[in-house]
Amino acid sequence: MNQETKNCQNCKQGFIIEPDDFSFYEKMQVPPPTWCPECRLVRRLTYRNERTFHHRICEKCDKKMISVFSKESGIHVYCQPCWWSDSWDGTEYAIDYDSSRSFLEQVDELFHRVPMMSLYGLYTTNVGTEYANMTGWLKNCYMVTYSDHCENVVHGSFVNWSKDSVDNLMGQKLELCYETINCTQCYETLFSVDCDSCTNVLFSKNCSGCNNCFGCVNLKNKSYYIFNKPYTKEEYRRRLKELYPYINENIKRGWEQSRKLWEDAPQKYIHGLRNVISSGDYLNDTKNAKDCFIGFNIENSRFCSFVTGKLTDTYDFTNFGENSALMYEALQSGDQVSEVKFSWWAITNVQNVEYCMFVGSSSDLFGCVGLRKHQYCILNKQYSKEEYYNLREKIVLKMKSDGEYGEFFSPNKSPFGYNETTAQEFFPLAKQEALRKGYIWREREEKKYEIQDGILACEHQGKCEEACTTAFILHPLELQFYKRMNLPQPRLCPNCRHASRLKFRNPIKLWDRKCMCSKEGHFHEKEKCVVEFKTTYAPDRPEIIYCEKCYQQEVY
Ligand SMILES: [Zn+2]
Ligand SMILES: [Zn+2]
Ligand SMILES: [Zn+2]
Ligand SMILES: [Zn+2]
Ligand SMILES: [Zn+2]
Repeated sequence: MNQETKNCQNCKQGFIIEPDDFSFYEKMQVPPPTWCPECRLVRRLTYRNERTFHHRICEKCDKKMISVFSKESGIHVYCQPCWWSDSWDGTEYAIDYDSSRSFLEQVDELFHRVPMMSLYGLYTTNVGTEYANMTGWLKNCYMVTYSDHCENVVHGSFVNWSKDSVDNLMGQKLELCYETINCTQCYETLFSVDCDSCTNVLFSKNCSGCNNCFGCVNLKNKSYYIFNKPYTKEEYRRRLKELYPYINENIKRGWEQSRKLWEDAPQKYIHGLRNVISSGDYLNDTKNAKDCFIGFNIENSRFCSFVTGKLTDTYDFTNFGENSALMYEALQSGDQVSEVKFSWWAITNVQNVEYCMFVGSSSDLFGCVGLRKHQYCILNKQYSKEEYYNLREKIVLKMKSDGEYGEFFSPNKSPFGYNETTAQEFFPLAKQEALRKGYIWREREEKKYEIQDGILACEHQGKCEEACTTAFILHPLELQFYKRMNLPQPRLCPNCRHASRLKFRNPIKLWDRKCMCSKEGHFHEKEKCVVEFKTTYAPDRPEIIYCEKCYQQEVY
């Protein structure tokens, strides 16, 4: 098929569907999208609640707990042990298909009847980790979100394969790391951004293979550098004693001084390593991954975000992956799953499901909610194989005539307020604007704490726009960590700390730009470099953006 320009049915802007895209839609037997890629992403993100928690009571065992679902959402919740137990089964809530009504309305009805898990995660794979969301394979972690395979990790988001680390964002293979953003394979690296394979590095950006560096940028395999200048080992040690962030004043000064230096240094147009014919940002080890953001190990996929690989042959996917393939318009799905379409939370050995929510270890489900270990069910009702396929076909025809088939769940049916979800992190809206666009808005619960022993006050005092909790406690693991690393206790609550790290992350949006390099001695000789690329650095940003080749010549 030829390339086609379509008008987004949501934002009314034009978007292009390429020949490769059509092949994918054909292979997946889905109609081409009617919404543009960004609207599709936002639609999925309005169902992604990573960090907003509410006090609830388990409707099975009456235990007090925290949950991603608020009371106002109308969603029934079970605590994790109850939800994952075999003491109940989703088929108890089965409903008969009513051909006179919208199918998605009936799925929504089911969603408001079947109990949901209080927090997301592969609960049975976590050990000693009660407070965590969107996690799996954790040991002794506390308040980490969207993180897998970690031990003794506290307050992190998208931290994987890491140990003994606190307050990190987008980190892989970290150990004894603190306040890092987008760092990979680092040890004792603090207050640093976009670094890889570093040890004992502080306040540095874009450093690779360095050790014992402070306030540096764009260095490769260097030791004992301060503000990009070399020192002897002894001099470095002596100066570090003055600079080391063992008091909050030093942290503040460290950020200020190093960021001044970072600003003048050229940046690579993309954050990532070992990417082949790929586009997007914050990617590692991808091949033919286009318009993908924040992820690793992705192949032959497009419009995917928050991916923990390996993920192959998938379009319009957000959150998770872990050895999965052939997904389309899916959210929070993964761990050996395939052929998952228009679904939210299809986890662990799931095949061939459509319009499902919270299904695990199952196959051939259509419009099911909260089912585990089932096959051939529609609206949680058990059918024979033949009945299943006949009824499925009938429903798809009806959905097509209603204009429902091929679309992900509608944002105005989300159990979350727009402001409770990742949509607000990447595409922030003011309340009135969100309501005008038809999104749900949830006012934050008023939090009242008395500052007493063990409870600290956040310096923002709730006056920021950052979901400030005004007061916070330090987990024993955190206290141990600060002591071990000679760091002061933080002055901001976890939410405000998270928000301050988000400021280092580029948006999920690409602009067509040109390399800004005009240095002599590069491959473009006396001319200005004319290499074009897609980058998440908006044209009006102050950073100097280089193509791969020019950037590599500036890193030494
Ligand atoms: Zn649109
Ligand atoms: Zn319970
Ligand atoms: Zn705060
Ligand atoms: Zn260039
Ligand atoms: Zn150049």
